[in-house]
Amino acid sequence: MLNKLTSLMEEAVAAVDSCTDLEQLQEIKVAYLGKKGAITAIAKMMGGLSPEERPKLGAALNQAKQAVEQAIEQRLLQLQAAGLSSRLAVETIDVSLPGKRFTQGNQHILSRVVEEIEDIFLGMGYLIAEGPEIELDYYNFEALNLPPEHPARDMQDSFYFGESMLLRTQTSPVQVRTMEKMRPELPVKVICPGRVYRRDDDATHSPMFHQVEGLLVDKNVSFADLKGTLLVFAKRMFGEEREIRLRPSYFPFTEPSAEVDVSCFVCGGKGCRLCKGSGWIEILGSGMVHPKVLSASGYDPEQVTGFAFGMGVERIAMLKYAINDIRLLFDNDLRFISQF
Ligand SMILES: [Zn+2]
Repeated sequence: MLNKLTSLMEEAVAAVDSCTDLEQLQEIKVAYLGKKGAITAIAKMMGGLSPEERPKLGAALNQAKQAVEQAIEQRLLQLQAAGLSSRLAVETIDVSLPGKRFTQGNQHILSRVVEEIEDIFLGMGYLIAEGPEIELDYYNFEALNLPPEHPARDMQDSFYFGESMLLRTQTSPVQVRTMEKMRPELPVKVICPGRVYRRDDDATHSPMFHQVEGLLVDKNVSFADLKGTLLVFAKRMFGEEREIRLRPSYFPFTEPSAEVDVSCFVCGGKGCRLCKGSGWIEILGSGMVHPKVLSASGYDPEQVTGFAFGMGVERIAMLKYAINDIRLLFDNDLRFISQF
């Protein structure tokens, strides 16, 4: 029986060594070591042996089993390695194929324009001031010298909460709040960026939009300071060759008041579609702070003067980046947003 076992073992090891795939290897394992395998069958015959013969055969059996198992394990590793290298030989990597692109988010065009505006004024020594979007009627209108009969105070044009509170229609109330907080300190030199709300909705108006207002209050602030400041802004925003012109206008909170135009940055002033042939584009409103606004904020209009200006961020963005519909800015269409 021992001889038979030895020859079975040799047979099995030889079969394992010559087998060429994993499936075949598994079949060999079953044929010799499985429940009905040839080596297992010899183990089952142990019962018929004499007590002296049993341990001998037992030891020989274990040895045979181990030898076959070891051979199988070794062959398995060889076959796996061979499989990998043959696959690598066929599957080559084409380094000229385009890589996987990961899309990266980008800043919204409005946030970027606000930052551009902020940077320009921070460079001129302005601080950034912020205020509440839900505002008291007092700060939004009264302290800014808007009489009760002013059309902007109409419920039709603004979003009111009851009688005395509303979504601010402009960032100007922040000017008043800042002056109240800072008085009697001088100079008051701030810009106020933020969201404002009006009942408007068409291609050039949105019920929510952004403004940046600026305010400078100090001794001897003149209209020339206003013009110089805005000229610097226009050049930084729209190009060094830009000029500005001021046209008389009316705002309740400034006196005198002026609309500010920048020379057209598309045609350079010759006249084109953007500037409607005039060579000029309106970009903001401005003026010298009304004495009543100064007194309402606790400053003495006999002692100090100031100027203020305000611009719509959407308008600046639409002009600078040739956007023709304000709603594009709020539609959240990635095809549009990711262009900037
Ligand atoms: Zn033009």
